[in-house]
Amino acid sequence: MKKFKTAIILFAIFEIIAVSLWLATGNLFFLLNFTYIGLCIGVGAALQAAGKKYAREFVQFGVGAYMLVFLGLICRENMQIEGFWYYLFSGVVGAGVLHYAIAKIFGPLLFGRGWCGYCCWTAMILDLLPYKQPQGPRKKIGFIRYIVFALSLVLVLLLFHFGKATQHTMFVLFLVGNLVYYVVGIILAVAFKDNRAFCKYICPITVFLKPMSYYSRLRIRCDEEKCIQCGKCLDVCPMDVEVNNDSRQRKNATECILCQKCKKECPVNALK
Ligand code: SF4
Ligand code: SF4
Ligand code: SF4
Repeated sequence: MKKFKTAIILFAIFEIIAVSLWLATGNLFFLLNFTYIGLCIGVGAALQAAGKKYAREFVQFGVGAYMLVFLGLICRENMQIEGFWYYLFSGVVGAGVLHYAIAKIFGPLLFGRGWCGYCCWTAMILDLLPYKQPQGPRKKIGFIRYIVFALSLVLVLLLFHFGKATQHTMFVLFLVGNLVYYVVGIILAVAFKDNRAFCKYICPITVFLKPMSYYSRLRIRCDEEKCIQCGKCLDVCPMDVEVNNDSRQRKNATECILCQKCKKECPVNALK
């Protein structure tokens, strides 16, 4: 049972959230939604603990496809950053705002960028491309994320200003926004030979994710006494994290998506 401890804890956390929100709001959706997500994450963590190869992909598709297809396309909830601004400024603390609070703003204090490694529907597709390890040095264009972040905010403020901030507009924005993310993400992945180029340079959500995940309780630790500096972990990391350094200040520390690839490669079990 010990090796499934993380899976049980993760499921329990989501179940507590599910029941608390259900009781607080009387809305059954919260119970079903967070129970489903917790189940996907719990089962995925158990599969990972059991050494199953596609455990992470199981969670990515289980949660990512649910959010994109069911919440986004069927329920017409805009879960992109524009949707977050829209619901926030409308004073509607519904699924969209809660999703950001839990997965992308406060949750990362506990589970870092687990969202990026296991749940994001954009990365769910980008990870299928062939460039699983970056094949070149990191580019110095990460500032683009701040521009995209600011533009998303200005766009929603303008919609409110001109009286166009409606549910319908937000649904259209959700469709267009996702299409743009996929097209730009695929072009960048091919151009830079790096599946995660979009995450590294463009994604506006990292403006929340990066600073919060710096303090994450869950992180890949390195026993530097054990490490033999073979560099295998650095070669497989999709996010260029200097993972063989245990410090929180290690290079690209806030980029870690907890995918566990480095741990699988380490020949001396120095990564925990
Ligand atoms: S950085 Fe953005 S696009 Fe990439 S996985 Fe995270 S939320 Fe998704
Ligand atoms: S390979 Fe390791 S350091 Fe790199 S993103 Fe995955 S878990 Fe983090
Ligand atoms: S794979 Fe293990 S031993 Fe090799 S550099 Fe990374 S942490 Fe050190």
